[in-house]
Amino acid sequence: MSEVFQNYVNGQWQASVSDATMAIADPNTGSVGSQVPTGAPEDAQAAITAAASALSGWARTPLTERIDAVKRLAEALNHRAEVLASTIASEVGTPLKISHYVQTMAPIRNCANFVKVAEAFEWSREVANSLVVREPVGVVACITPWNFPLHQIVLKVVPALLCGNTVVLKPSELTPETTRLFAEAVHEAGFPAGVVNIVNGNGAQVGMPMVTSKLVNMVSFTGSTATGQAVMREAAATVKKVSLELGGKSPSVILPSADLLRAIKGTLGGCMLNNGQTCNALTRVLVPEDKLDEFKTLIAAEVKKLTVGASLEATTRLGPVISATQQQRVQDLVRKGIEQGASVIASVTEIPSEGFFVSPMVLEVKPDNVLAREEVFGPVLSVLTYKTVEEAVAIANDTDYGLAAAVWGEPEEAMSVANQLRAGQVDLNGAPFNPLAPFGGFGMSGIGREAGSAGLEEFLEYKSIQQPLPAKE
Ligand code: NDP
Repeated sequence: MSEVFQNYVNGQWQASVSDATMAIADPNTGSVGSQVPTGAPEDAQAAITAAASALSGWARTPLTERIDAVKRLAEALNHRAEVLASTIASEVGTPLKISHYVQTMAPIRNCANFVKVAEAFEWSREVANSLVVREPVGVVACITPWNFPLHQIVLKVVPALLCGNTVVLKPSELTPETTRLFAEAVHEAGFPAGVVNIVNGNGAQVGMPMVTSKLVNMVSFTGSTATGQAVMREAAATVKKVSLELGGKSPSVILPSADLLRAIKGTLGGCMLNNGQTCNALTRVLVPEDKLDEFKTLIAAEVKKLTVGASLEATTRLGPVISATQQQRVQDLVRKGIEQGASVIASVTEIPSEGFFVSPMVLEVKPDNVLAREEVFGPVLSVLTYKTVEEAVAIANDTDYGLAAAVWGEPEEAMSVANQLRAGQVDLNGAPFNPLAPFGGFGMSGIGREAGSAGLEEFLEYKSIQQPLPAKE
């Protein structure tokens, strides 16, 4: 067992009780990079017990002290920013520059955002003869995926801690070095023992025991819709709170009044970010039928600019996908889509032969094509056409998901379309991501919201304390 990937339980480093490991391949080369513990239910139990013991002390710790601890965590992460950026670039395949800004600095800044939100939050209020107070939910299990490993950890762990919960974190086993760096930062921040516990291992061995434990009061999960459904099912036995941030098939609606080139650039950027492995990726673009030829010419020229290469190379715009499984999944879905009638508009065929690279691709599809319906989680953009704006709205909403959307066009019309879309966030004309706005989805994209004050509130219960009414004269 490698000493590197130990669990962090009750303020101490601990090896898994199991010697079993699995090999993790380097996405840039395809060769085995590290061996990580698969973990065992006993590891999860130890972490849950520690979190349960620490709960009452942390819940009673004044907010100012909890805030100070989170500030120390942000500082410890900031000290590691450079190594975090290169580690995430290596483990996930994110191009280094994007890894620095999006994967590393954005989540570090988000710690400060949550602190501001906690400082301004209304922790109690009077409603007639009741004092309504907000209290921590309890022991929170945070289960996170590999695509934005630090970001997804911060979005859960930081607000949960600010609210006075104790945490058991199970990150993806595909990003073990990132997990280790985060655990070191937690240790350096000096949280009381048991307040933050981190367990390596896979979903079956470590994740599911957290979901089913009676001592866990809430599961905050990000990942695939299929696993999210399993989490929700299994959590039902103990009636615990569940928040789910799942997949998407987000539309980018280009209205006839749009600046077409700007819309294409924005959509392509939103689709290809992190090599297409982003839950809110804009993966379906809706184009007015009479603009399709012009669209094809313009997007082909943009796709040509996508340099595919090793994630640590400065010239790389797109790196590999994370694993052989993911590479196979993307290739299979593209093959299936083409069998169902999809036609390739543009692609990059010059890609490295070693490692888990896939060709970025833009394909014209019909609304019932698998590429118009299923989350690919790779650099694949599906193009659909429409005749009227009403039809565009109907196609955009014709999905099981509802995480994100974009609209391009004359501002008033774009706003009117945004109001008709069933999605948790809608970006108008390339507006930037707002880390303070609620993030989450309609439909099968999930339950609950992350980020900002809505993301903080997820980790709180209400308690109403009634006071006697004044005696009648
Ligand atoms: P999963 O949903 O399988 O994994 C997400 C997290 O859940 C990981 O930490 C995983 O652990 C854990 N997990 C897996 N099974 C269980 C279980 N039964 N109980 C508790 N926890 C569990 O996603 P994958 O990483 O395998 O990716 C598969 C697909 O999911 C992608 O192709 C993509 O479509 C989608 N996805 C969507 C994301 C989003 O942000 N919406 C993020 C990631 C993936 P471990 O993997 O270590 O076993």
